[in-house]
Amino acid sequence: MNQPIIGIAGNQLIHATEVFNGNFVTYTPQGFVDGVLEAGGLPLILPISAPKKAKDYIKSIDKLLLAGGQDVSPRMYHEEPQPTLEETNYARDIFEAELIKEAILQKKPILTVCRGTQLLNVVLGGTLYQDLSQYDQWRVKHAQQPTAPQFSTHSITVFSESQIGQLIPDKTYVNSYHHQALKELAPGLIATAWAADGIIEAVESSEGLPILGVQWHPELTRSVEEKEQKIFDYFVNEM
Ligand code: MN
Repeated sequence: MNQPIIGIAGNQLIHATEVFNGNFVTYTPQGFVDGVLEAGGLPLILPISAPKKAKDYIKSIDKLLLAGGQDVSPRMYHEEPQPTLEETNYARDIFEAELIKEAILQKKPILTVCRGTQLLNVVLGGTLYQDLSQYDQWRVKHAQQPTAPQFSTHSITVFSESQIGQLIPDKTYVNSYHHQALKELAPGLIATAWAADGIIEAVESSEGLPILGVQWHPELTRSVEEKEQKIFDYFVNEM
């Protein structure tokens, strides 16, 4: 059986917490592992490393998955941190940026989730709202806490003639855990889904590259919503 190797860029717990007895750990949310496994892929977590390692990591995988997490450091798009910025991890940013560039060079498909989609936009030349309060038309609750993550909370409108449009309905609901958002879209990307307040919720390549990005978290809803597992199925088997 063909099992595509899916490299999942891992996160690092860089604050000591009681959860891991004060140990620093590399991890990825379990939903990514389960989503890839259920789709028939072989998940491999890539630990945050020196950017020069990216080339070899990408050589060793078939496809790249970028997960959610910290805010993207605004120095990645040449801005100073605004007061509403939350935690950043510059080491993660520059490593994942190199993974994206290498995956494009080596023609390996990329799926990005939440922060991953924001970083993708930045790497390709776009910018972000450091916080949604910077967006004049902000009308939708995009940080759904304390509502549990398996519940989809806000609507999106999907461009039916797009990759994501082949997988999910044109009008549907998604969960939402972001306070940053895409601002200027990178020239290499097109928007393919929007929240009711105009915030971009999905992107793909404008140049036909195998790239799919979503702003929501399919890894947290896939066990209760069939349409969300379809994103993993498509990425692992068809991209
Ligand atoms: Mn949202």
